[in-house]
Amino acid sequence: MIIEIADRTVEPLVTRIVESAHDVRTLLFSERIFITVSGDERCIDKDRLKATPGVLRVVDTGRSPYFLASRECKDEDTHIQVGESVFGGNRLVIIAGPCAVENLEDTLETAEALKRVGISLLRAGAYKPRTTPYNFQGLGRAGLEILGEVRRKVGIGIVSEVMSPEDVETTAGYVDVLQVGTFNMTNSALLKRLGRTDRPVLLKRGASSTIAELLKAAEFIVYNGNPSVILCERGIKTHETATRNTLDLSAVPVLKRLSHLPVVVDPSHATGQSALVPVMSKCALVAGADGLLIESHVRPETMIRPGDGDQALLPAQVGSLIKELRALGRVVGRRV
Ligand code: PEP
Ligand code: MN
Repeated sequence: MIIEIADRTVEPLVTRIVESAHDVRTLLFSERIFITVSGDERCIDKDRLKATPGVLRVVDTGRSPYFLASRECKDEDTHIQVGESVFGGNRLVIIAGPCAVENLEDTLETAEALKRVGISLLRAGAYKPRTTPYNFQGLGRAGLEILGEVRRKVGIGIVSEVMSPEDVETTAGYVDVLQVGTFNMTNSALLKRLGRTDRPVLLKRGASSTIAELLKAAEFIVYNGNPSVILCERGIKTHETATRNTLDLSAVPVLKRLSHLPVVVDPSHATGQSALVPVMSKCALVAGADGLLIESHVRPETMIRPGDGDQALLPAQVGSLIKELRALGRVVGRRV
């Protein structure tokens, strides 16, 4: 249950009515005051609550399980500023980079080349979630140090994945946006911890998750205090095997209709094929995406995990794509 109140003077009374529930908190969100209640609601006198002066509305979170992330709560688009880029405004934000931080030289060279062609943020993982223990698992802390050096030398903001709650604080010290990968979308311990950081979170949709489940995962982060969540459609599992995943592009307008949060599309993990990335990037722009997340490396054929190389564009190809996106943006009324 969520109760919106007019001002803090009503807080003690409302808190007394709902205190028998397990967890009662006050949340300041979107310049409004909410009292969130989680746990056993059976003893709460809802009629008394609704009749209390200063109570603006009582939300049944059984019916609206992602209320804070939804347009029902906040109709205006959320804008999330990262350096000079704004997610959720009219301009498409382009994030690109290698899958993993493999070494300083490649990461630096790729970052410099991508910055020259006009990307906004670099994405590279120090912690890599993998489907087998035999794949390269990332450099961990050493990878973060490399990202810190790249950020300083190139002057570019960094997006990087965090996999466990214990790594959130350290990772936040090196990067500008914390990414939650597809495997961790339902890791509620991680989501709760990310609610207590001031870094924006890029939340990737679980490959087998519905749109509602993605929004409920976002709700965990907002509920725990961090309003800066960027949603990411990265392809879902279907019976199709011709592409790595199936890019659910209709998720973009659906998410934009249901939620005020910005939406980014990752055409690289969605298709697994570099040749498909430009066309699906253009489709994502037309579908209303606020940003793109594109795999790129200066020497894709040298990437440790061969599958990563198959879906990576060269920085020059990212540059050509940006030019095409700019031209298309003029047609559909978007800046790139
Ligand atoms: C990534 O973007 O680095 C990544 C591992 O993607 P996903 O979690 O979507 O597979
Ligand atoms: Mn990858």
